[in-house]
Amino acid sequence: MEALRQDAQRLAPELVAVRRDLHRHPELGFQEVRTAGVVAKTLTGLGLEVTTGVAKTGVVALLETGKPGPTILVRFDMDALPIQEQNTVDYASQTPGVMHACGHDAHVAIGLGVARLLSAHREELRGRVKFMFQPAEEGLGGAEKMIQEGVLENPRPDYALSMHVWNEKPVGWVGIKSGALMAGADSFRILIEGKGGHGAIPHQTADPVYAMAQIITALQSIVSRNVSPLETAVISVGSVRAGEAHNIIPQTAEILGTVRTYSDEVRELVLNRLCTIAEGVAQSLGCRATVKINDVTPAVINDKKVAQIVQSAAAKVLPEMTNDTSCQTMASEDMAYVLREIPGCYFFVGSANPEKGLSFAHHHPRFDIDEEVLWRSVAIMSAAVMELVWSE
Ligand SMILES: [Zn+2]
Ligand SMILES: [Zn+2]
Repeated sequence: MEALRQDAQRLAPELVAVRRDLHRHPELGFQEVRTAGVVAKTLTGLGLEVTTGVAKTGVVALLETGKPGPTILVRFDMDALPIQEQNTVDYASQTPGVMHACGHDAHVAIGLGVARLLSAHREELRGRVKFMFQPAEEGLGGAEKMIQEGVLENPRPDYALSMHVWNEKPVGWVGIKSGALMAGADSFRILIEGKGGHGAIPHQTADPVYAMAQIITALQSIVSRNVSPLETAVISVGSVRAGEAHNIIPQTAEILGTVRTYSDEVRELVLNRLCTIAEGVAQSLGCRATVKINDVTPAVINDKKVAQIVQSAAAKVLPEMTNDTSCQTMASEDMAYVLREIPGCYFFVGSANPEKGLSFAHHHPRFDIDEEVLWRSVAIMSAAVMELVWSE
């Protein structure tokens, strides 16, 4: 473990260079052509068996030790966001309107670092390590598409690992938790149909704007009055649309929002109540509501045994890190689709540094990380793979 740590630390300058290059050249989901090129070239150079073009721009690579043992999948996402970067650093995005504001540039650099480190330590491994460089994590379903195109077959992984740099916490913090880690997400659309008319003659209309306001207010009773206080759920309305003029009561109104839950029971309860309230409130006001639910991603659930192995590996390779075993977030992540099929662990590595002004939230136009997180993440991920292959 000490050798692994020292070798990871030695990789630090290269990791920073790779991350900055990717940061300068961000690419949106399913358009990661340049990024995938960098990935494929590096992995081929390491002697790995590389497949490109999986789910358009995804890259899969196999590190085969030739010794019998389990297959470990390690997954890293590659896409950027449609945000105009406001940082003035010399490695700021050179593509207008596109930015690595979630840290997936760091993930690609870390993934390539893990491949380099584990290749150098191939003799101490057994089984095989399958690298999954995924496109389109940000709401476009890249993981699901790679699964459809066979990333979990030939060979089928026994365990799966993935991680996120995490600006909610400082460098030196690591969050590895068993069980529910990130919420499942559903989006909803409520269309309210009323009867339009003159703003000065409301009694001849069925006002969908008024119904919309009542529905939004009533939706907040679901978490406070229906979900058990010991459970967790979020309902947020993010978009409302109705009408064009100040003196016309429109014919229709529309509400868009998101629901986040950890368990199937709570999810079902929330979605059922959402439909009942929207339809009931609209009807009581002379309107008609139609609700459409779209499941975005399931919850991220970590396997207990794998999470414990990752915790133990992290403690051995970076004993000075603070390990938070109770961290949880209502954010979502499409690694959930992999973890639904393969026992595994998704974890967070603290990347903020308020003293250096590096603590803007993910998806903020000034998001940036303390690059000290890079070699530390390589060390933890590599140590976790090493412990996992010898765990059975
Ligand atoms: Zn993100
Ligand atoms: Zn992300």
